Amino acid sequence: MAVTLTGSGIALGFSCSPKFSKRPSSSSSNRRCVKMSVSVEEKTKNFTLQKSEEAFNAAKNLMPGGVNSPVRAFKSVGGQPVVMDSAKGSRLRDIDGNEYVDYVGSWGPAIIGHADDKVLAALAETMKKGTSFGAPCLLENVLAEMVISAVPSIEMVRFVNSGTEACMGVLRLARAFTGKEKFIKFEGCYHGHANSFLVKAGSGVATLGLPDSPGVPKSATSDTLTAPYNDIAAVEKLFEANKGEIGAIILEPVVGNSGFITPKPEFINGLRQISKENGALLIFDEVMTGFRLAYGGAQEYFGITPDLTTLGKIIGGGLPVGAYGGRRDIMEMVAPAGPMYQAGTLSGNPLAMTAGIHTLKRLSQPGTYEYLDKITKELTNGILEAGKKTGHAMCGGYISGMFGFFFTEGPVYDFSDAKMSDTEKFGKFFRGMLEEGVYLAPSQFEAGFTSLAHTSEDIQFTIAAAEKVLSQI
Ligand code: PMP
Repeated sequence: MAVTLTGSGIALGFSCSPKFSKRPSSSSSNRRCVKMSVSVEEKTKNFTLQKSEEAFNAAKNLMPGGVNSPVRAFKSVGGQPVVMDSAKGSRLRDIDGNEYVDYVGSWGPAIIGHADDKVLAALAETMKKGTSFGAPCLLENVLAEMVISAVPSIEMVRFVNSGTEACMGVLRLARAFTGKEKFIKFEGCYHGHANSFLVKAGSGVATLGLPDSPGVPKSATSDTLTAPYNDIAAVEKLFEANKGEIGAIILEPVVGNSGFITPKPEFINGLRQISKENGALLIFDEVMTGFRLAYGGAQEYFGITPDLTTLGKIIGGGLPVGAYGGRRDIMEMVAPAGPMYQAGTLSGNPLAMTAGIHTLKRLSQPGTYEYLDKITKELTNGILEAGKKTGHAMCGGYISGMFGFFFTEGPVYDFSDAKMSDTEKFGKFFRGMLEEGVYLAPSQFEAGFTSLAHTSEDIQFTIAAAEKVLSQI
């Protein structure tokens, strides 16, 4: 949808300051607010990050780089990271009291909005009975049944505590099942920080422009083969050069870790065919796309069934959860059903299962993905339109609640195309948007996420802010 922006900016539903603290409660009251409110340009500036700066300076002495996950440090966009205090719905609030419309969503999990009341209430009830048993609990059955009935490829599932763990486990399983150690991953795709995957990886590795990480033994990556995303001919060549030795192909079915990149149909269909022909397993890493592109993930969206799937983020509803699953005959190799060892002290704990169950319950209601698609389309088109109006070369796209854009003409089909983006300009755009009350992923090489809590007013606010910032950079 093309949004018409006026020269004086769009009138918005936030009537007092750029640090809007009240959200309209219904669409009819929203419309009233729109009439009464001031434009982005008219708002007075009162933006300070003093407390964040103090806290981050202290953190740098306590934790490497001041953070517990690299991209959070804002290294590629400049400036200091914002230290958060709380989150609700579509909003984040920092320790200086600034509010932001959030498009990071804790990197994906917050798809029904932060701190959803029903999830919080369910967690409070569960917590009264204990937080971890280190023994089976009924809630594991409930979430497992939900995941199995939702995700086409999954007949059995193993819960773990993070996406990294899920990818580590699934690769060991694929190697155990096929008896072949080589596997193919794609440049710019990220599958967590386990040794074998830290080759031409996306996410923080791409953001920081790091070469393959020191500390990863050569032996750990000697069986990792790589190809450019969307390049089926390169995959064919790898199978020819490594006849009978490749046990798996793993990919992000829509890339989020080198920015937002969609697969060409011939690529994703071709992978299914080539893997079958060569006795290799096809693994969809749906840590990001699972329950986001559709309830059944990218595999439902594209109608392609992989052999194995990894999940994370959303299935934990904001608590630490990952999972891998797939064909029953393969999954029965996992200990104790079979000999492939993998374990976890906190895996399947009742708190994480509860947050996952109630998040999926909400997502399974009718209209969820239509709504995500509608607002994300409005957002992406609006930002691209603002780019056009202000004379910036930009391209971008979205599917359901996942989106991204690059500062380059495009099209972007792989990581080398993504690297054509003007990352310095992205940094300026990012910092400008932050001041306007919009929190984007602090890296050109990360996708953005919307949630069911984002309203059309949030989107219009964001587009107006984007037009303002883009006209200044
Ligand atoms: N796979 C993909 C596709 C991811 O996006 C991520 C995290 N961004 C991971 C794996 C690793 O997950 P985690 O950070 O929970 O270890």
